[in-house]
Amino acid sequence: MSRKVIIAGNWKMNKTAAEGRALVEALKPLVADVCPGVADIVVCPPFTTIAAVVEAARGSNIKVGAQNIHWAESGAFTGEISASMLTELGIEYVIIGHSERRQYFGETDATVNARIKAAVKAGLKPIVCVGELLEDRENGNTEKVIGTQLEGGLAGLTGEDMANVVIAYEPVWAIGTGKTATPEVAELTHNFIRCTLKDMFGAEVGEGVRIQYGGSMKAENAAELVAQPNIDGGLIGGAALKAESFSALIHNAIAR
Ligand code: PEP
Repeated sequence: MSRKVIIAGNWKMNKTAAEGRALVEALKPLVADVCPGVADIVVCPPFTTIAAVVEAARGSNIKVGAQNIHWAESGAFTGEISASMLTELGIEYVIIGHSERRQYFGETDATVNARIKAAVKAGLKPIVCVGELLEDRENGNTEKVIGTQLEGGLAGLTGEDMANVVIAYEPVWAIGTGKTATPEVAELTHNFIRCTLKDMFGAEVGEGVRIQYGGSMKAENAAELVAQPNIDGGLIGGAALKAESFSALIHNAIAR
């Protein structure tokens, strides 16, 4: 089965509305040649920048996502954003369970699960992040940690739900550090993730889920990573903050 490449930029807490609009305006002509049938290009700005970016991206092949979502429809959840607030803005994707949310904001597999369910119910496409710490890898616990994250995070979802879910494998030791997992090391974990998805949802569903790699992916290493059989794209931090570096990465990734 051939899965469409998906390259998503996680802008994290970077870019005001004006800066985000300028970035998308600069990116549009650079990626205009990328056929929508070949790759999904997604940018995920901070909440306050989303509206400006949706407007700037209109009519182009750039899709927009958010970086988090709350599970409740509304209510006393100071600082949180609901699914309907996001869908009203016209976004398509939402990153859930990024390691920075797990590390700094108390995100757990249970809260990840609740957020995914709210996103799927609203018709949004969750990009669900999983990944091990350096000590997990050094202790031989990578598969145990990721298996637990997948089983907890995806509990109660159906095969139909999974058609809209993207998994991002992001080894925490590779995020923002310049240390990338080698294509071979990444592929082993991607294969484990795919096997786990097949066990949970059946072979056909597991085969169809797109699994991105994230962690210091850049133009220079994108092609060899995405050439691996179970690596279907990337979730990009630093290299997504400039139009030229993001465009170069996208073009190298789809030249596989
Ligand atoms: C990320 O935070 O999702 C990420 C992959 O960051 P970077 O590309 O900067 O390592």
